[in-house]
Amino acid sequence: MKAADFAYRRPADLAGALAILSIEGEDVVPLAGGQSLMPMMNFRVAQPAVLLDLADLTELRGVSLDADGLRIGAMTRYAELARDPLVAQIAPLIGMALPHIAHAAVRNRGTIGGSVALADPAAEIPALLLAMAARIELVSAKGQRVVAADDFFLGLYETARSPDELVAAIHIPTDAGQRRAGFYELARRHGDYAMAGVAVTAGGGPGDALTSPRIAFFGVSDRAMRAHRAEAALAGQRADAETLSAAVEALSDLPVNGDLQTPPQMKLKLAGVVLRRALVGM
Ligand SMILES: Cc1cc2nc3c(=O)[nH]c(=O)nc-3n(C[C@H](O)[C@H](O)[C@H](O)COP(=O)(O)OP(=O)(O)OC[C@H]3O[C@@H](n4cnc5c(N)ncnc54)[C@H](O)[C@@H]3O)c2cc1C
Repeated sequence: MKAADFAYRRPADLAGALAILSIEGEDVVPLAGGQSLMPMMNFRVAQPAVLLDLADLTELRGVSLDADGLRIGAMTRYAELARDPLVAQIAPLIGMALPHIAHAAVRNRGTIGGSVALADPAAEIPALLLAMAARIELVSAKGQRVVAADDFFLGLYETARSPDELVAAIHIPTDAGQRRAGFYELARRHGDYAMAGVAVTAGGGPGDALTSPRIAFFGVSDRAMRAHRAEAALAGQRADAETLSAAVEALSDLPVNGDLQTPPQMKLKLAGVVLRRALVGM
């Protein structure tokens, strides 16, 4: 099938893009790497009246370090993140997850901002941002605001972003680089979306008690979500067999959703498996 007719706009800079969004509003759909949006348009799941191509917005591209920590421009591609030394230093969790995100061809085009804006419940990036206490910078013609990842992912493909806003950047606190990190996902084939996955960070030295743990699941519910009861079970404990079992038991009230292949009870079981594996060695 081919996409429905649409108008194509390719502004030269951020100000031009924000002007189009403020004037043409909900009819405008931003295009980043196109790895999700183009298939959605070709299946006519998405039928934007105006496609706003962000390709020339250099303001939204690149990685830098500022007083708040790491700033990753929304248009930075997965493949660029994989090569970036600042990302490796401050957000090692991203490097652990990247090989599991699709395939090299998709990672060459797909962007971090596209994944954040789409909020696919099985995507890795939203869960990583929850686990790292990241914040999301949004811009519109009216100005800028910053939303904690905890308050950004609201439901199935639903976020706190308004239609006139662009995701401009992701901010990751500097101390994320000093925290221990664990990641594990189960997928039917390597590169497929996860059946269940988890990202974990915690303070404390290797083998010490885990302090302020953050556990974020993906692929198990309608959105990436933290498991607060399991975090409480881990806090102040070493990641030994007893603690791992207590954390897995504390997942019992996680609001899991089944899908066509996996009933909810199985999702819950898989959530326990990935959590246990992510915590081994932390
Ligand atoms: C075969 C295949 C396998 C895949 N497997 C995985 C996987 O395992 N894990 C995974 O996480 N993803 C997977 N993906 C999706 C991929 O990661 C996409 O790249 C990503 O979801 C969207 O990024 P994009 O830059 O391509 O965004 P696009 O497809 O261009 O846009 C996605 C959505 O975000 C909006 N958007 C994009 N950028 C912005 C912005 N800056 N501000 C506001 N709105 C914006 C668009 O309007 C659109 O609604 C897969 C894709 C394919 C084709």
